[in-house]
Amino acid sequence: MSEFPQAIKAITQLNPYIPGKPVSELQRELGLSSIIKLASNENPQGVSPKARNAIQEAWLDLGNYPDGNGYILKQALVQRWGCANEQIILGNGSNDILDLVARAFLSTESEAIYSQYAFAIYAIVTQAQSAQGCMVPANHYGHDLNGMIQAITEKTRVIFVANPNNPTGTFCGEEALLAFLKQVPSRILVVLDEAYGEYLSPEEQLNSERWLNQFPNLLICRTFSKAYGLAGLRVGYGLGHPTIIDWLNRVRQPFNVNSLGLLGAAAALTDFDFIESSRNVNNNGMLQITLGLDRLGFSYVPSKGNFVLIRVGDGDAYFRALLRQGIIVRPVDNYQLPEFIRVTIGLPEQNERFLKALAQIQ
Ligand SMILES: *Cc1c(COP(=O)(O)O)cnc(C)c1O
Repeated sequence: MSEFPQAIKAITQLNPYIPGKPVSELQRELGLSSIIKLASNENPQGVSPKARNAIQEAWLDLGNYPDGNGYILKQALVQRWGCANEQIILGNGSNDILDLVARAFLSTESEAIYSQYAFAIYAIVTQAQSAQGCMVPANHYGHDLNGMIQAITEKTRVIFVANPNNPTGTFCGEEALLAFLKQVPSRILVVLDEAYGEYLSPEEQLNSERWLNQFPNLLICRTFSKAYGLAGLRVGYGLGHPTIIDWLNRVRQPFNVNSLGLLGAAAALTDFDFIESSRNVNNNGMLQITLGLDRLGFSYVPSKGNFVLIRVGDGDAYFRALLRQGIIVRPVDNYQLPEFIRVTIGLPEQNERFLKALAQIQ
């Protein structure tokens, strides 16, 4: 080609993230009136009521920039997790924090390790830095933590671990994770992405913030987009050593979390009733869907998240057939899982409609 501005090579070769199809888009395309979206692991109960109330009061102040230090939300997090203010970074969603990690820790000379079938953003933020991504083969669809240790080289700077993982729903328990953390050299940052942690039962929850003092190279990422029901507000946070947090803050946009997000997330954090009911709705829905799948003869990967990876044969054909019935699920061929679809657990009637639609596809 003749003269035209050229982006850096890593960007021209990057496969962009493919988000779930919005309801409004399918409405425009098919003119269907009743559409359900089970494609982006959003909370089918919607917004935390406490968050909704808190946001209503924030409208009057929208003419001003948000608090760039996010004092209100950080204080709520300090109260909740018993950490220090300096151990917290806020993000425009936790994806923002994953991006900050890559910008602060990865360059053309370095490598990041992540699992096969792990959350797609890890590979994207790594490649966007022109850094080398090292994808470690999965073990029964989950992270092979020992394999990830074996993959460490002198160039490794970051290891991404999603727990539970999206799109597989697989989970590593405390024993395995602690053994892993002990083996990772302390010069390497371990990013523990716990986007779905709130869906674990209280007995299963890791309370990984307890490990921060022992492992100064640990960064825990969490989000308000899933169980808290605030995906549209874009708020996530990271917990880690003050020095790590300081470096991330240097590349952070000063007002990356908006005013409504700060207030809504702070309120949602203590909406324990909402979180509990989200977990209950999810547990019941997971049972409803998996029993339905058993009945229909579909296999699936047992999931600790609010979604399930189902083996349908031709994932793309099922995705399209379900769209025609007004149901949006997630094709996962971009994860090299072309035989599967990923379905978010919905409300009982949505799950029922999904199972009925699935049964009709030949
Ligand atoms: C949904 C998700 C996130 C969170 O994304 P946000 O940017 O906070 O909305 C992070 N990690 C994983 C594994 C996810 O599935």
